[in-house]
Amino acid sequence: MGVVQRLTRIALAATQPRDRWISRGPKSAQAIALTFDDGPHPEHTPKLLDILAKLEVTATFFVIGQQAARHPELIRRMVAEGHQVANHTWFHHEPTRLSSLALAAEVKETRALLEDLTGEAVTLFRPPKGELTWGKIRTLWTLEQTIALWNIDPKDFAFKGPGDIAAWEANYFPARGDIVLFHDNHPWATTILPQLVEKTRALGLGLITLAPWIKAARLRRHASLLNVEPAVTA
Ligand SMILES: [Zn+2]
Repeated sequence: MGVVQRLTRIALAATQPRDRWISRGPKSAQAIALTFDDGPHPEHTPKLLDILAKLEVTATFFVIGQQAARHPELIRRMVAEGHQVANHTWFHHEPTRLSSLALAAEVKETRALLEDLTGEAVTLFRPPKGELTWGKIRTLWTLEQTIALWNIDPKDFAFKGPGDIAAWEANYFPARGDIVLFHDNHPWATTILPQLVEKTRALGLGLITLAPWIKAARLRRHASLLNVEPAVTA
């Protein structure tokens, strides 16, 4: 990521409400959020869902549209088990190869499929590799998407074995509002979840989907437009 992109992210995180741009939760949050990208995967995703159910943890899945079309039962299972399903484009093309127009088409196609499968509105979007231009940000906001990034990136897609992610986990100290980026088209996150969840809970923190943070931001924004106190605070 270039300097300009990094500064853009910092500026957006500082100026935009979390229902338009979320790269971490509130510093006062009582939780962290685990997110899983690039699935659903026919082998790794069911195993991950098994572990999450056993640990009683809900998470957010940024799924690729064409993968969701191939494995619709996994999308239904995610929702049935309390997870949040979100949009990660239809093809997961290289961001630089995609025009704003093509991005909009992929967002709409994936959204329609996910809404059909989940019966819920799907307006949370994460760009492949986190790369965006101003034009694409404008396109996504025109489509009323909440743009979701992360602040903790283990880069698990590059790991060669469980030792790599164990080493990362040993050096990770969960902080309020962290958004952690994992990939469920790789098996590694599943191997360290029990330790990670235990460590997080020992700090008095829960593990939640992104939905409550976004909802709180939306309520606060609407309340400020109406000039009244919000009923819910994060
Ligand atoms: Zn991705």
